[in-house]
Amino acid sequence: MPNRRLTKDELSGLALPLLSHIREKIVSLSRGDVQLAWAIRRKIYKELSFDERRKPPQRKKLKAQKRKEQGNKCALCGGELTARYAVLDRIEAMGGYTKENTRLIHRDCDDDYQRSKGYT
Ligand SMILES: [Zn+2]
Repeated sequence: MPNRRLTKDELSGLALPLLSHIREKIVSLSRGDVQLAWAIRRKIYKELSFDERRKPPQRKKLKAQKRKEQGNKCALCGGELTARYAVLDRIEAMGGYTKENTRLIHRDCDDDYQRSKGYT
């Protein structure tokens, strides 16, 4: 299933006004304190990314489960995974980081796969 994308009307009528609202709210809440505005913006950014990607300890745990389940082999090429630089890949982006929707793959295999799909 392809990723859900916003329609032109959803983008202009929903997402962009919400983004403007958040930006205005950060400015008003920080009352000219540039460092506070930065800290609020960073916190909002992080929390929203966790909404999509889950928190790092959850991803780390899932990565370890997938490594064990796959016998430490890359799900794409079947080669041995290194201790680092393995990518927890979502089979469908909208499916989230669940056991059923992820696979552990080499970073290079991920790059090749992304390129073959036209994502990079
Ligand atoms: Zn591989």
